[in-house]
Amino acid sequence: MAKHEHVRVAVIGSGFGGLGAAVRLRREGITDFVVLERADSVGGTWRDNDYPGCACDVPSHLYSFSFAPNPDWPRTFSGQRHIRAYLEHVTDTFGIRPHLRLNHEVTRTTWNADELRWDIETSRGTFSADVVVSATGPLSDPRIPDIPGLDGFTGKVFHSARWDHDYDLTGKRVAVVGTGASAIQIVPAIQPRVARLTLFQRTPPWVMPRVDRPISAPERWLHRQLPFTTAARRGILWGIRELQVSAFTKRPDELGLVERLAKANITRAVKDPALRAKLTPSYRLGCKRILLSNAYYPALTRPNVDVVASGLKEIRGNTVVAADGTESEVDAIVFGTGFHVTDMPIAERVVGADGSTLAERWKNGMEALRGATAAGFPNFMTIIGPNTGLGNSSMILMIESQLNYMADYLRQLDALGGRAALAVRPGAVDGWNRRVQSRMQRTVWKAGGCDSWYLDANGRNTTLWPGTTYAFRRETRTVDLSEYEVLRAPVPAAASAAGSRTKEAVQ
Ligand SMILES: Cc1cc2nc3c(=O)[nH]c(=O)nc-3n(C[C@H](O)[C@H](O)[C@H](O)COP(=O)(O)OP(=O)(O)OC[C@H]3O[C@@H](n4cnc5c(N)ncnc54)[C@H](O)[C@@H]3O)c2cc1C
Repeated sequence: MAKHEHVRVAVIGSGFGGLGAAVRLRREGITDFVVLERADSVGGTWRDNDYPGCACDVPSHLYSFSFAPNPDWPRTFSGQRHIRAYLEHVTDTFGIRPHLRLNHEVTRTTWNADELRWDIETSRGTFSADVVVSATGPLSDPRIPDIPGLDGFTGKVFHSARWDHDYDLTGKRVAVVGTGASAIQIVPAIQPRVARLTLFQRTPPWVMPRVDRPISAPERWLHRQLPFTTAARRGILWGIRELQVSAFTKRPDELGLVERLAKANITRAVKDPALRAKLTPSYRLGCKRILLSNAYYPALTRPNVDVVASGLKEIRGNTVVAADGTESEVDAIVFGTGFHVTDMPIAERVVGADGSTLAERWKNGMEALRGATAAGFPNFMTIIGPNTGLGNSSMILMIESQLNYMADYLRQLDALGGRAALAVRPGAVDGWNRRVQSRMQRTVWKAGGCDSWYLDANGRNTTLWPGTTYAFRRETRTVDLSEYEVLRAPVPAAASAAGSRTKEAVQ
């Protein structure tokens, strides 16, 4: 076991969020921090999702850090391998390696009200920290539905985010369950080599063409020689996506035109009317994430593919049975069934000021001021917390906004002097959440007629941000101290007598 270590900041996770936080901390002059990561390398999403065909849906020049532009992106949309290599490069370039504590899974972190610090238990020893920044990712814990009979299945089973590369799918009969972003990349990648592919589709996605191409050597040369051209390219990609936001958030009817283009995409690729009908969504485009692929529909028309327009209901021996009664015998099942998004597992491991967990605090739905701070959890913040997700643009923009907020939070804590902590006022969280939820009502995610992973068990959208990334940037530029209560540690001599923290109202 490692010996107990106290740090000013403990970051949990080393994906874009955790690494971005680490870079930002160093840039703020803070070196007294660790990055606790359960895996044996950095990369988060882009380390774990190495399934065949895995790639980003946002152009590379926008899906990267603004402070670490990469003139050498090889394609307009990067594949997993290149994004993972980029994150390793960022780790080295910005001196993050010494801060990494790999193979350290955070199993519990508890607010110590007397000492105004977090006591952190990991799989490799304990730490304490003044501030915890949780960047465990919204899509990092795979979700496999509870299918009756799954335990008795004697073939191979794995989730898209835990691909078993030792298992050769060549010549096998494979069931793919789900039609989300991962599944539609997996299907065309494995279809040519499997004997039979049965796709279980509860709801068809809207799929648009993917305008992907290699970035030419002259373009890359230009970006290297004239760095402002990389920034300009990023700016254009950002601007186009910002202009789309109002259609998603205020005027879903404007998406009708794009819907017609998406329908034409189906018609072009799928000649069989019965298959076309199965693949045509009955909800408004944008209600679920719009997917990009040129290969998905053509793969579904191949003779070795069956599309079952129904969910997987049960498994009998090696036979997978759909809710509509369709049965197929298979050798392997690949679950592309998403992640624990609205019930993020880290919440069960975070114990706040009154002894309850963040999961208990969020039992009626996740909520946090500016996506960052939850009432009852002083000096704890999330990167990509509640209502910070995007339907149409790069999550790195939102992560960088939250990093601005984190940096200002630490500056303000410093300015308070002495041992202090910030506890967000419940009223500030409520007010923020009411505003977010009221803006959510008109969005296509709420009004588009679909059920999606954006919604929690109560049908509330606690995942997406109902506005532009620019608006979120404005909301997170600085910490408004009136939204917080300052907690003070008692002076050491009085500490044993008082035995607890004192509170101070902020004017
Ligand atoms: C297949 C796929 C494709 C995607 N495509 C896009 C896209 O095109 N555009 C887009 O904007 N977004 C996309 N995303 C979303 C993507 O998750 C975010 O863009 C971003 O990578 C999230 O970064 P993160 O650091 O917050 O989380 P992650 O990258 O998930 O990193 C979280 C890290 O925390 C670690 N961790 C979790 N729990 C613990 C614990 N208890 N203790 C220690 N460590 C822990 C994990 O091991 C992981 O390394 C995609 C996601 C997936 C899964």
